[in-house]
Amino acid sequence: MATYKHYLAGLMNTGEQINDTISVRNGRIVFAGAVDLLDAVARYGAPLEISFCPLITERVQAMQRLFAAGRTAAGYQSEFVYAYATKANFAEEVVRTAISAGAHYETSSAFDVRIAHRLWQNGILPSDRFIFCNGSKEAPYLAAIRELREAGFANIVPILDDPHEFELLADCALPFMLGVRERKDAGDMAAGITYGYDRFGMAPAELMQLAARVAETPHTIVLYHAMVGSQLTDQQRWIDEILESLAGYAQLRAYAPALNYFNFGGGMPTGAYDLSFQFDYAAFAERLQRAVAGWCAAQGVGHPHLVGEFGRYSVADHGVHIFQVGRTKPGQPGQPPWYLLNGSLMVALPDILIVEGQHFICLALNHYQAEAGPVVLGGRRTCDSDDFYPRGDLQLILPRIEMQSTTSEPVSEPLLVAFFGTGSYQAMLAGEGGAHHCLAPEAPKVIIEARDGVLTTRLIGEQSWEDVLNELGYAEG
Ligand SMILES: *Cc1c(COP(=O)(O)O)cnc(C)c1O
Repeated sequence: MATYKHYLAGLMNTGEQINDTISVRNGRIVFAGAVDLLDAVARYGAPLEISFCPLITERVQAMQRLFAAGRTAAGYQSEFVYAYATKANFAEEVVRTAISAGAHYETSSAFDVRIAHRLWQNGILPSDRFIFCNGSKEAPYLAAIRELREAGFANIVPILDDPHEFELLADCALPFMLGVRERKDAGDMAAGITYGYDRFGMAPAELMQLAARVAETPHTIVLYHAMVGSQLTDQQRWIDEILESLAGYAQLRAYAPALNYFNFGGGMPTGAYDLSFQFDYAAFAERLQRAVAGWCAAQGVGHPHLVGEFGRYSVADHGVHIFQVGRTKPGQPGQPPWYLLNGSLMVALPDILIVEGQHFICLALNHYQAEAGPVVLGGRRTCDSDDFYPRGDLQLILPRIEMQSTTSEPVSEPLLVAFFGTGSYQAMLAGEGGAHHCLAPEAPKVIIEARDGVLTTRLIGEQSWEDVLNELGYAEG
């Protein structure tokens, strides 16, 4: 078989680029045009997590530009509102970067509103941004929303999931701008809406009843929320679903005349997981606005402002995890060899277990002259038989090296592998800062941010055993 260098050359798209964030320069992988990953390991060691914030800025601003261009091309008459769905990654540097890039804020829980409140108090979240509050809301979530409104933040928009939520907000002394969430029905499920979405929102009859109730109060319904799914790559299907929901929007306007925002939720796909990913964002931005404008013209409805809540798209590709192979073991006959990593895959990338078929771009950083071949990675810091990658039918090609278990450590040049696209959901699902499976420690994280056009770097050290013992309640005697 050919060398890994040869294999890598086959992945290159145009010149040195493997995709828009990964390139190979002088035989070394460079991330986001700025970070030589072998240099990063030389400086900080491996395992290592990298959070490269300027990519978040780039994603937010690129989408805003594309929607602006699409708006002109389609003659769309209302605004586009980009909100960052913070549940994708709550790290302070991530949320602050998205806000600084111009994103509005979408919350998923009570504590999330507390973060927004703090960011507003600290002058990071401007008062003219929207805070859209989604999800089914228990008392603490509604209380946090109310407190923020009563503290003077007018642009907080609770998106009601249930008529009862309104009753718990109705007596607020200050008026609320409200949203309502549409409930998917059996027809939507048949059309391929991801199962699980139908638990959210209200059916048309409930919406109309609620609108009549809200009309008796100082509050107003301004936004209609309809979400199709996540990582949606079929543009036509996505737009068809949106048009179907627009009918619900138009119907509700008869009862809620202030309604003028249509929120299509999340689902904007990211190219961070797959080298063969293709999605024409510019075409989508134009096509969506053309389709909505056309639908509105036919129905005699004004163009609503369009809101998108971007989680994965905003932050997936800003994160990278690097591991070092410490041991290799021959596979069973006919099976690829095992490479044992100094980390845990199920802790670093929990989606490999949670999302069926989820994969990540994984590349070697060295040993490029070695023969390339399929291997399986195992997380050495758990003793869980599920801690391996790739899973299912996927194949992972890496340099074939041998580091037999009899070899004494340290190995002169250990193989380093990088997982890309780890910036959304993974850290939160793993429970950042907590005690993890088999007490696998969190890798050090290097945070790279642009300050006045200059990249600044800071390191958060590896989780210590003392941190973990304290977390679990083992106080020092
Ligand atoms: C999770 C979620 C999002 C973000 O979804 P992505 O697919 O990650 O962009 C947006 N809106 C709502 C209501 C969500 O629940």
